[in-house]
Amino acid sequence: MSNLESLLDQVDDMRDEIIALEQALVRIPTVNTGFMPTGNETEACRYIEKWLSEDSIASETIESAPDRGNLIARLKGKSGKAGLMFMSHLDVVPVEEEEKWRFPPFSATVADGRIFGRGASDCKALLTCQLVAMRLLKRNNIELKDDLILASCADEEHGGRYGFGWMAEHHPEKLDAPYAVNEGGGVPISAAGALTYLLGIGEKGRLQLEIEVRGSSAHASTPWQGSNALFGLSEVVKRIEAYEAERDTSTSLFDHLSTFAIEDKPSPENIDQIIADHEENQPRFTSIMKALSRMTITPTMINGGIKSNSVPESVRLTCDVRTLPHQDEAYVRQELGKILEGIDGVEIDVDYMSIPNASEFDTEFASRIQISTARALGRDDIQWVPSLSTGFTDSRFTRNLGTTTYGMVGSHPDDDPMLSFIHGTNESVGIRSLVSGTRIMLALAYDVLAAN
Ligand SMILES: [Zn+2]
Repeated sequence: MSNLESLLDQVDDMRDEIIALEQALVRIPTVNTGFMPTGNETEACRYIEKWLSEDSIASETIESAPDRGNLIARLKGKSGKAGLMFMSHLDVVPVEEEEKWRFPPFSATVADGRIFGRGASDCKALLTCQLVAMRLLKRNNIELKDDLILASCADEEHGGRYGFGWMAEHHPEKLDAPYAVNEGGGVPISAAGALTYLLGIGEKGRLQLEIEVRGSSAHASTPWQGSNALFGLSEVVKRIEAYEAERDTSTSLFDHLSTFAIEDKPSPENIDQIIADHEENQPRFTSIMKALSRMTITPTMINGGIKSNSVPESVRLTCDVRTLPHQDEAYVRQELGKILEGIDGVEIDVDYMSIPNASEFDTEFASRIQISTARALGRDDIQWVPSLSTGFTDSRFTRNLGTTTYGMVGSHPDDDPMLSFIHGTNESVGIRSLVSGTRIMLALAYDVLAAN
């Protein structure tokens, strides 16, 4: 049986194959607009099924709706139950302003050591790494204790209703594994000169808040006969802008500030000062600290008025709200009550898109990830910091099923995450991150699942 070292060497030999697979996946435009019919993930599933079948790896495509395919592949172990799940998603966000791209967004052009294209980083890079790791385990006939599941699902970019959300509801047995790795972490961050990775342990919650401000209509030539809802709205917007969310340093990231050469013990009282002191030399990390130390309420859309010569009777403000793990809907409503106090004619409607969620940081699986990453990268100087992501991923569905799920994509230590432009113009992935990610996925699966 091959040992891990020889497996890892084979990853380097497969560089061209890794690039070709990533390019093929990016060239299948699985654009998810959020409006059906959309996504077209089944086409990507069919491609992957065929790719896996070259090594006789079993897989199936389960459609939640026409063309909304979810791909499940499985490498069998001795026990017959799963020990680890590789997670990713197949869909990508739409392209805005295509003319601003250096290369056509679905061309998967290679330049500057990177592959450019929509989905190149989010999330087809991780999928590529996981697929190649699976292929190598199979080609080397590595005997596994437990099964390895690879689940790449639809619709992540629009909430997962046709993807992991649907699978968790209709086929939870296909996702049944104690541990999983997914997007949402595993990128390096500069910290006091030492190589540091953020391990994604959880996510802030997201709510959509609708604030309806009512007045009464009148002809615009005699506005005093009505009550203009826009004036009420302007007060609402001002209050939201002035709102100082309660500071909170209870998430586990704040136990690890010394990793970033920040020696003050953080508290709700001093966290803003700590952020201000380090903003200049650690802009990315201070932005994370800011996001993880408070709830945010961000007005994003406005709607109202029916005619240019009518005093508007009602206006609606939409806000994006991101909450910390212990902040529930009652907390959000209580804070809104304070913010909007005394403004007449205001009604609010709170819609939960995603409840905040997290896995523990101090687990056997987390240490397995740390050990495997060290071996895969050949480095023994890596520091780890638990982080919550400010957006949400499919991990919330598997955490709900009881699976310890971490965000761990395994970007290369020297690959600047700021260059990936996820969801943006010129999205790309560093080829060396595809290689390092594959090495890490392989080392992790080997460590958790190999029989001897
Ligand atoms: Zn994604």
